[in-house]
Amino acid sequence: AKADGKNRWACYDAERNAREVARIALSAAMPAALERDEFYVEYQPIVRLPEGTLTGVEALVRWAHPEFGRLGPDRFIGLAEETGLIVQLGRSVLAKACAQAAEWAALGGVAPVVSVNLAARQVEEPGLVEDIARILREAGLPPTSLQLELTESAIMGTTGEPLDALRELVDLGVCVAIDDFGTGYSNLAYLRHLPVHALKIAGSFVVGLRADEPDSVDAQIVRALVSLAHTLGLGVIAEGVETRDQAERLSDIGCDSAQGWLYAKPGPPEEIVRWLV
Ligand code: C2E
Ligand code: CA
Ligand code: CA
Repeated sequence: AKADGKNRWACYDAERNAREVARIALSAAMPAALERDEFYVEYQPIVRLPEGTLTGVEALVRWAHPEFGRLGPDRFIGLAEETGLIVQLGRSVLAKACAQAAEWAALGGVAPVVSVNLAARQVEEPGLVEDIARILREAGLPPTSLQLELTESAIMGTTGEPLDALRELVDLGVCVAIDDFGTGYSNLAYLRHLPVHALKIAGSFVVGLRADEPDSVDAQIVRALVSLAHTLGLGVIAEGVETRDQAERLSDIGCDSAQGWLYAKPGPPEEIVRWLV
């Protein structure tokens, strides 16, 4: 029995080691990849409900890996947060997204607000406000055309100076949204004191919305989140909207905006141009 146990451990360890080696290799490759500019940004439309007109776009980073091809952020954002490289990577995403948004604005018409994800590490980094102010200036983008998305844990975990940084950004005119709202530990009492403009409802709540079950638990949760947001004077964006049925339910509930495959998958900036005309 003892030998058996040993073998199982050996087997488990081998698998785990292989995964760990791959992780470390990917992690180690990131600084050079950043240097070689292998990271690029895709954009996904955010539309107003019920009309379906474009109000914004979310910037989502990808890695064009020379060996493994296109890697999604779930493969490397966690690693970048661990090593701290997220600060530089995040800065590069911000710069790309702001430059792109300025290009769309130059095409005329109503420019979409560009929404960029911010990791906790970035919020804690001294100089964030100056960085973002410089990026906006260099891109020629008004601060009101930028929205930052932070998860509840990224916001709630920070006190003092990081919150001051967010306040300063809001004073500049930048918008702040809480990402994946409802999935973290929401300190609801705290919410009223936070410098935020909008809540993004996680797709995991949207999945359960169906026309034939208007009072399902998910529907009631979404209704409660929308009502909470509106009570606090915040906008609500639903994520992961895949069906017409879900969009209709969200619209009935009073959700302001939606994002998901029903409207468009994340894609290159050229695809957003078609939404502008
Ligand atoms: P997120 O911020 O919650 O982004 C939404 C994710 O849902 C994206 O995955 C998007 O492609 C996906 N999605 C959009 N519509 C649908 C839909 O209708 N159905 C389903 N099932 N999924 C949909 P993606 O691009 O793989 O990004 C994953 C996560 O990586 C993001 O989640 C975000 O937390 C993180 N991330 C992406 N870009 C950045 C970045 O530049 N900086 C940081 N810190 N995090 C990023
Ligand atoms: Ca997001
Ligand atoms: Ca989200």
